[in-house]
Amino acid sequence: LFVRAALSEGAAIALDPGQANYLGNVMRKGIGDELLLFDGASGEWLARVAGAGKKRMALSVERKTRPLEAVPDVWLAFAPVKRAQTDWMVEKATELGAARLIPVMTQRTVAERVKLERLESISIEAAEQCNRTSLPAIAEPLALAAFLKAIDRPLYFADEGGGAPVAEAMRAGPAAILVGPEGGFTDEERALVRAIPQAVAVSLGPRILRAETAALAALAAFMAVAGD
Ligand code: SAM
Repeated sequence: LFVRAALSEGAAIALDPGQANYLGNVMRKGIGDELLLFDGASGEWLARVAGAGKKRMALSVERKTRPLEAVPDVWLAFAPVKRAQTDWMVEKATELGAARLIPVMTQRTVAERVKLERLESISIEAAEQCNRTSLPAIAEPLALAAFLKAIDRPLYFADEGGGAPVAEAMRAGPAAILVGPEGGFTDEERALVRAIPQAVAVSLGPRILRAETAALAALAAFMAVAGD
């Protein structure tokens, strides 16, 4: 269970009403029961229910059970697509170990607004589900040009127009992946990306993948190269 509090031995944690309700009424946890917590920064901890009320629950943290795992230092920069597909992309990117998720606004991006809180809660649920003790950082949306200016690591640019085969182009080490919107990048944007020295255009194969599939395929390829 993710908690918004710094965990340490002996810490007393007061759960918010939503989490207290989930643990008390859905998971049927009561006083003395054990559960595992993570705060996204310090690994996984064993805690025990110390007090329970209708809409509250107090936990007492006992000991660390797992250190914070290292995730490969890979960022996923994606043009937000429709809500359900963006949600799915964030969920899968969290499972695959992405360290940072960056919404990038492009000319053909259809989503006008990205709800960062929503993306954060999806990534928390995904981390809980896949036993990840860290959370991906979720960045403020950036315009493509601003993103390209700020990027200071190899950028694997998923270009359906062609590029090096992904498995040959990727190297372990800090990296970012850039995936376009459903309508793809414009020629102007494609030229803009290819002009920065960090950009490596990669192909994910001869078929045109949906944006969220492309993100997943590129991340999976990176994880295969990075090895964790
Ligand atoms: N509208 C474009 C078209 O019809 O040519 C397709 C865009 S595709 C649905 C969305 C994004 O997924 C692309 O911008 C690209 O980043 C990525 N993508 C899809 N298929 C790919 C492939 N085979 N290789 C590399 N990237 C791909």
